[in-house]
Parts: sequence; C-alpha cells; structure tokens
Amino acid sequence: MANFMTDSHRQFLQVLMSNGIIDAPEARRVHRLFCEQHKVYYAHEKLDEFVGVINTHLHPLFMEIRKGRSEDNGKMFYALVNLAITEATKLASDYAENELELFKKTMDLIVESESGYVSSTSILNLSDKLQSKKMKKKEVEQVLQMFVQDKWLSEKQGDYTLHTRCIMELDQYICEMYQDAKKCNICHSLAIQGQSCENCGIKMHLPCVAKYFESQPEPHCPHCNEVWPHETRDLVQPDSQLPSSTPRTTRRVSRSETK
Ligand SMILES: [Zn+2]
Ligand SMILES: [Zn+2]
Repeated sequence: MANFMTDSHRQFLQVLMSNGIIDAPEARRVHRLFCEQHKVYYAHEKLDEFVGVINTHLHPLFMEIRKGRSEDNGKMFYALVNLAITEATKLASDYAENELELFKKTMDLIVESESGYVSSTSILNLSDKLQSKKMKKKEVEQVLQMFVQDKWLSEKQGDYTLHTRCIMELDQYICEMYQDAKKCNICHSLAIQGQSCENCGIKMHLPCVAKYFESQPEPHCPHCNEVWPHETRDLVQPDSQLPSSTPRTTRRVSRSETK
C-alpha cells in the first residue's frame, strides 16, 4: 500500500493534535469521515494501517500515534505521544519549574500508591515541600486543574491519577524511573490503577480483573493462588478490540458529541 499522506491523513492528525487523545469509536468515525470527504480508499478494518502511514511521517519528529487502553474502563484510545523520553523535553516547554516539580512529586505519590489514586489533600501538602519555589495551596489547586485540562492527570471525586494519555506517553519512562512501578499480571503493560494480591503483591488492571475472573465464583490469585481479596464483580470489562464485529450500519455516536 502507498505510504504517502493524503488530506484525510492530515485531517486525522489534526484531530489528534487538537485533542491529544480520542477514543476508538471517535477514531473510527473520523477515519471514515475524512476518507469519504477526500474520496480516498476506505475500509473500516484499515484504521491501524491508516495510522501507520501517519506514523512513518511522525517518527522523524519523535512523535507517534499510539493505541492503548484506559486503565479505568478498559476502552481503547488513540493518543498522540512524544517519543523523546527525557524528563526535560516532555513537559518542560509548557510549565514552570515548580509546576514540573509538583507534577513529578504527584506522579511519585500516584505510582507508589496501592490503588493508583492520591487524595487532593496529599497533593496540597506538597505545596511547602517544593524545592524550586514554594506554592500556596491555592496555586497548587490551580496547577492541578491545569494538569487535568492538559490531560496529564485525571480527577475522580477529589482523588487524582495519571490520565490515560499521560500513561500512553510516559509508560516507558515510568517503568525506567520507578522500581516500584508494577506491570499487570494479565496484559503485562504498566498498571497504575488496579487491584493487588495481598499475599504475593502482583497487580492487575480493573478491566483485566473483570475479564480474568469472569467465570470464577471464588477468585484466586493467578500467581500464588491465594484467595483474591477484592471485589471482582461489577467492574467494567474492556470493549471488543474488533471493529469488524460491529455491523457497518451501527455507527456509534462519538463521546465528544454526547458531552
Ligand atoms: Zn492489564
Ligand atoms: Zn498472589
């Protein structure tokens, strides 16, 4: 297949540049839309190939469109990520030094936590521990909001975790920097949020837990066989990875349109 960028590729890239991350139904929707608009070859199962063409043009810029799952609900997303993995290049251009330090310290707390969430109180308490330049609590609140807006953090009822886009971009960096960072026992990718075995310490993403224990009334740890001490029902299961299983007529409304 030809490896050149058409206007449909360019527009798809623009959507990712302005959003940073989109879910798979939205990616499929704009893939189809732009191909039809520009009358270029379209097949719904060719999305990853389509993205691959864009990626060959992004790689010289150390960027890539990457596909990954949300730890929270297991849904598939596409995100534009920066491949130049140095702490400095990642966020440095956008934030002040003490804001970066706050992010780094927040990330430390999140990665080292059991659940992958830290309370806003713990983050606010970092305000006078910053070495570069101290912040008032009020400022920390504002910076936190900015990190949420920029999709580095996400917030749930006052607790903070790393945003899916952030994990997709920084997973390699996190694995290299944190010895405590755990990989999911099921899918082997980085697990920030999840459940851990109290006996052997392995961790699993919630959607992976749900899928793995689906048919087990009394779940046991897949590693040490101890009784699994957490609730495994009513967790969200990952959506189907196969767009081909959905009939072409059932075009789902994109999340961004429903909000
Ligand atoms: Zn997993
Ligand atoms: Zn175990």
